[in-house]
Amino acid sequence: MIPITKIKYKNRTIKVTFENIEDFAVYYHEKKKLVFRKNLSSKFFLKTLFHELFHIIIATNEFSVSKHGEEKVAALTEEYYTILKQNPKLKKIILNLI
Ligand SMILES: [Zn+2]
Repeated sequence: MIPITKIKYKNRTIKVTFENIEDFAVYYHEKKKLVFRKNLSSKFFLKTLFHELFHIIIATNEFSVSKHGEEKVAALTEEYYTILKQNPKLKKIILNLI
């Protein structure tokens, strides 16, 4: 089980839950709720997390992108997983810089 119950971003606190759902995750902006599918592997959880963080950023900032375009870019953010996985030193540097 992944021990995360909330994500703070700007003035929002988004409740995080793990449920039996078909999609990897669903973000409800108005309800300030992010639901992940239960029992995702670490890899898919992290890829999905990057994807959903992108949706949270877009929605919170009311950034104007077409729904079609947003989904494509959200999918690309999943590649942060691959980059961080292949570069442990980069991962460490990023964490140390925050
Ligand atoms: Zn999406």
